Amino acid sequence: MGDKKNKNCVWNFMVCFGVVTLLICCVRPNKMVGSSDPKKENTFYQYNIWWGFVNKVFEGDLTVKELKTKGDIGLGSYSKLDGELVMLDGVPYRIREDGVVDVPLDDELIVYVDAAFFEPEDSFKLQSTNFDSLIVKINSQLPSLNQFYSFKVKGNFSYMKCGGLYRQEKPFEKGLDELIPQRPVFERVNVKGTMVGFYCPEFIGNINVAGYHFHFISDDKTFGGHVMEFNTNELDVEYDPLLEYHFTLPDSKDFLNVSLEKEFQYQKK
Ligand SMILES: [Zn+2]
Repeated sequence: MGDKKNKNCVWNFMVCFGVVTLLICCVRPNKMVGSSDPKKENTFYQYNIWWGFVNKVFEGDLTVKELKTKGDIGLGSYSKLDGELVMLDGVPYRIREDGVVDVPLDDELIVYVDAAFFEPEDSFKLQSTNFDSLIVKINSQLPSLNQFYSFKVKGNFSYMKCGGLYRQEKPFEKGLDELIPQRPVFERVNVKGTMVGFYCPEFIGNINVAGYHFHFISDDKTFGGHVMEFNTNELDVEYDPLLEYHFTLPDSKDFLNVSLEKEFQYQKK
């Protein structure tokens, strides 16, 4: 009888152990699939550091194909400053120095970019506004200026002024501190489109653009660039707080040897 009881106990233990093991095996693969999902929400992805970009690291090794795995919105620049980059709904656009917009091939290279998968957490509307008043309103709406944010701002703009970049060839002589004040400028009236943007707190220093940075692409995909000024009657602002930050540094001699002498930040809004 005692023997039988012991055998039953051992049998019950083995059955329980088997069931638990089976459950763990069933549950773990799902967890692993979840954690290896490249579409990381709430993550600010950055390629290159702003400081390197300012100091003439103008060639990058991030491909357009790779960028598409890092987010569905983004802004930045292509290698050799061959155009401003704005990514919207997973499509990276390029605005060249003459203002012409196209979609680059997957193997083309990027020198600097911010990107994220956009999952808006909140939104608000704004009437009759310009760049300065938009920033005042955003500052009053955000729960804190000590975290990162991504933005999609849609509107019908009565005026939009965007900046581009002149393509550079080696040896690169001028840093962004000299090139940006002399950048090509594109203007349009009565244009519908979307501004894609990012906010970095002041503590980011020279690693990225401190404050707000927006790039624009028109709905008809014929006009865009780095947002400098605008006027509009109504804006739809959506934003998403980003609590994680992911860097990729350029794997190039230019980056390894760059001397981070010059500093440049856009004028604070
Ligand atoms: Zn820009």
